[in-house]
Amino acid sequence: AEKLRLVLFGEGGVGKSAITIRYFQRTFAEYYDPTIEDSYTKWCSTSSGARVFLEVTDTAGQESFEAIRDHYIQNGDGFMLCYSATCDKSFDRLDNFKDHIQRVKNSTKVPIMICANKIDLKADRVVSQEQGLEYAKKVDPESSEKFAKDKYIETSAKTGERVDEAFQKLLDMTYR
Ligand code: GDP
Ligand code: MG
Repeated sequence: AEKLRLVLFGEGGVGKSAITIRYFQRTFAEYYDPTIEDSYTKWCSTSSGARVFLEVTDTAGQESFEAIRDHYIQNGDGFMLCYSATCDKSFDRLDNFKDHIQRVKNSTKVPIMICANKIDLKADRVVSQEQGLEYAKKVDPESSEKFAKDKYIETSAKTGERVDEAFQKLLDMTYR
């Protein structure tokens, strides 16, 4: 069996820990220490039926510690770039993470999933689905437009909506 490492990046407060805990513990972490960075593992299956040992790293507030981030990027196989659909600034920050990952990996073919979280907060939404999809197209400008929608997902760690699917899609994308 193969081991696959997925890493979550995104501005503080977007829900990286909540998404990770929803996926691994089937519960909503209303409050999770924003400074804690941790990895979680479990066995799971790709959509094609292959068994993989999955390790997910939930990163935290280390935007200034480039060296640590580089370490996660070098060791990571696939990346979930998270923002909150209720926060413009968190959406604007995606480019930093994307560029950094592609620079460290020296490739635009690195598996990256764009995750718009907190979609349960409908009234507070400021980043549209169109904007998210448009951004997903930019992640790998050479790939065709029809694949962009597979790299974008809207989640709610609070309700659990599409959280499993986000990991499954990224896992499938990463398993090659
Ligand atoms: P992180 O800094 O990216 O790890 O963000 P956290 O997981 O700590 O979440 C930050 C805050 O957003 C916490 O108060 C969470 O309860 C809240 N939160 C996270 N995900 C969601 C979500 O999908 N919906 C709602 N309504 N709140 C969320
Ligand atoms: Mg966190």
